[in-house]
Amino acid sequence: MDFDLNEQQEMFTKGVRDFARGEIAPRCAKMDAAGIIDPELLDMVRDHGFFGLCFPETYGGLGLDTVTYGRVVAELARVDAGVAIMVSVHNGVGSFPILQFGSEELRREVLPRMSKGELASFCVTEPGAGSDAASMTTRAERTETGYRLSGEKIWVTNGYHAQFFVVTARLDNEPGHDGISAFLVDRDTPGLMVGAKEDKMGLRSSDAVSLVLENVDVPGARRLGEEGDGFKIAMSALDGGRIGVAYQSVGLAQACLDVGARYAIEREQFGKPIATKQAIQWMLADLATELEQARLLADKAAWLKDQGRSYGREAAMAKLAASEMAGRAADRALQIHGGYGYSKDYDIERYYRDARVLRIYEGTSEIQRLVIARSVLSEYGG
Ligand SMILES: Cc1cc2nc3c(=O)[nH]c(=O)nc-3n(C[C@H](O)[C@H](O)[C@H](O)COP(=O)(O)OP(=O)(O)OC[C@H]3O[C@@H](n4cnc5c(N)ncnc54)[C@H](O)[C@@H]3O)c2cc1C
Repeated sequence: MDFDLNEQQEMFTKGVRDFARGEIAPRCAKMDAAGIIDPELLDMVRDHGFFGLCFPETYGGLGLDTVTYGRVVAELARVDAGVAIMVSVHNGVGSFPILQFGSEELRREVLPRMSKGELASFCVTEPGAGSDAASMTTRAERTETGYRLSGEKIWVTNGYHAQFFVVTARLDNEPGHDGISAFLVDRDTPGLMVGAKEDKMGLRSSDAVSLVLENVDVPGARRLGEEGDGFKIAMSALDGGRIGVAYQSVGLAQACLDVGARYAIEREQFGKPIATKQAIQWMLADLATELEQARLLADKAAWLKDQGRSYGREAAMAKLAASEMAGRAADRALQIHGGYGYSKDYDIERYYRDARVLRIYEGTSEIQRLVIARSVLSEYGG
């Protein structure tokens, strides 16, 4: 068993850390206040190849393994969790359906464009269908040239900037999972309307929008997989996406540890640094221990994916453990800051807000537990 990154992985991770500290960190507070990524930073993220991390080199990407990709997401999240989710949704749920289920022709057409920074998004959630995604009502009808889609999607991360939308819809009003198909829709398709950005509590450098589809004609060649494969495609994209959220949580918790430990050393009360108090030391010890546990779970899930082995259960475990851990990490680090932690002058205030959504998107903690429990019970014949 080898817990070390190889030289190339170390170098890559360090390069991303330097980029995040040098280019992202000075912009975080402004992006948080503005609720949008700095356009200059978006261009830099593009130019540095962050939008082709996981695509094979034949499609213009860097072809990173999942463990290295995870380290990239964690390093970004250590500075700005919003930038991390933007990169993670694009490289994960936004593009995996094309990479895995698109025709070779579609892959050749679209993936090089995505690698260069035409953003991808993933549109499953609807006003009435969240955790119960199979109850979605967006419709698809067959036409002479393909399909016509109508319906509404919400919480589309990256949608404000995206060129590509992976959309799931119910074909022929057929009920249940098997009635759902998946399509790739271009932004400029008539009838596709991108709504306003959500005014979110956290992750404010990342955007999430609603989407209205009114008789949107999609060519048959832009269907992903076979008719009726849409739910399966969305769920397998989410398996990988959950590894990304686990690493995002690890990076954010690392940031909480960074600021919590530094503050504890600097802040003096009762004539000594508060770091000398056992109560504070225990908070840091618990934070560091739980962070390490979560990182190991994320690495295991990523490693399984890289080995071509089944990883859905481990991805759900990593996402559950890491996102819950990040919430506790932010809470402890804020407690260490006392009243100052409640002020926007300190980064922990933003980390605390950013951490909250990790337990909600790409499947809530309750849904992760359902996935894990189903897998556990099946081993016992349940
Ligand atoms: C910032 C942000 C970005 C997002 N980005 C995307 C995106 O890019 N694409 C996309 O498609 N979606 C996206 N989402 C949507 C997200 O995936 C959903 O919010 C999530 O799946 C939960 O759905 P819901 O909000 O409708 O909550 P609901 O499903 O209504 O759940 C409400 C509560 O009930 C619980 N619950 C529901 N069912 C069960 C059950 N069977 N057992 C126990 N508890 C249950 C939930 O865990 C939750 O606590 C995003 C959301 C946010 C906040």
